[in-house]
Amino acid sequence: MKLGRVASPDGVAFVAIEGEDGAQTAREIAEHPFGEPTFTGRSWPLDQVRLLAPILASKVVAIGKNYAEHAAEMGSQAPEDPLIFLKPNTSIIGPGAPIVRPPSSQRVDYEGELAVVIGRPCKDVAAAQAGSVILGYTVANDVTARDQQKADGQWTRGKGYDTFCPLGPWIETALDPADLAIGTTLDGVSVQSSRTSLMLHGIGEIIEWVSRVMTLLPGDVILTGTPAGIGPMEAGQTVAVSVEGIGTLSNPVVDK
Ligand code: MG
Repeated sequence: MKLGRVASPDGVAFVAIEGEDGAQTAREIAEHPFGEPTFTGRSWPLDQVRLLAPILASKVVAIGKNYAEHAAEMGSQAPEDPLIFLKPNTSIIGPGAPIVRPPSSQRVDYEGELAVVIGRPCKDVAAAQAGSVILGYTVANDVTARDQQKADGQWTRGKGYDTFCPLGPWIETALDPADLAIGTTLDGVSVQSSRTSLMLHGIGEIIEWVSRVMTLLPGDVILTGTPAGIGPMEAGQTVAVSVEGIGTLSNPVVDK
């Protein structure tokens, strides 16, 4: 099932997105998207509503250097254990919303990533049980002010600006994430192309590691790291991240 959130005629609605590409329908879910959804009976053609970020996360946990070639291009060894950091939930935007480059940074980079969405409150989850706490998967762009990430020595500022966490276009609940094509384009030109099978720490291991530190809540999002090929985005460009089996998350880039 594809779960999304849309700007409905009277507010915001969680929806299930059904039907074939090009003729999809957004079917309104009565309350929240966790568990077996019930439906209100209202629906809209998908092309007549605006998709928002598919989930309201209490936190976004991200994994650094989880692909060997990306660690190498950053000039460092891949860490033995998962390296985690937080992005504020205020950095989340939906598909089509502009990524806003702050004037304080001279280099704002894309990082295409597979994102895991948590489906239930959990703590100390064993890797083998991780599937039971996952609602589904979506596409993310871990936007980074690279100059500030390097200058600060820790990553809160460089990763934390408003609009620095595009998510979407929806959450796919029926997906095996083990070996999916993941790629990023900038103005239609391929800049990242890899497979999720090249992650150094798999999703089960990541959830075990993170949930040993902090309680995870329904809707929390874990970004699983970016493959090689990171680079800057300029105002006027459009960045698009695609993950096989989910879809494409596209956002324009603007200067503040
Ligand atoms: Mg990243």
